[in-house]
Amino acid sequence: MEFNIIPDKEALSECAWCQSHITEYMEVFGFGAKLKPNVDLSEYEGHCIEIGLVSEEKSVYMMVTGQGSEAKNEGKDGMFLVCSEACGKKLKNVLEKDISIGKMFKTVMYD
Ligand SMILES: [Zn+2]
Repeated sequence: MEFNIIPDKEALSECAWCQSHITEYMEVFGFGAKLKPNVDLSEYEGHCIEIGLVSEEKSVYMMVTGQGSEAKNEGKDGMFLVCSEACGKKLKNVLEKDISIGKMFKTVMYD
């Protein structure tokens, strides 16, 4: 699989769902996802990439967690940054649909 790498600055200043601008003064929400075992994103570790969703005509930014990071140790292969809980829930619902029909995600880890 090949993905575009999005510069951190750009990816981390935008809600993954609604594309609202996120500033350092806002309270942001993030959650993780685990990839299917055959999906290898190791070449993108530590970078943000743009992924296409299957159940929605939309692409979202995902941070690929690096080896040894706290998120990776918790089993999260990817992290999504959203501007609000509402956006988090919407994105989570879409990703959960992608689990069954897509090739990428195994579990969504939303807590
Ligand atoms: Zn949002």
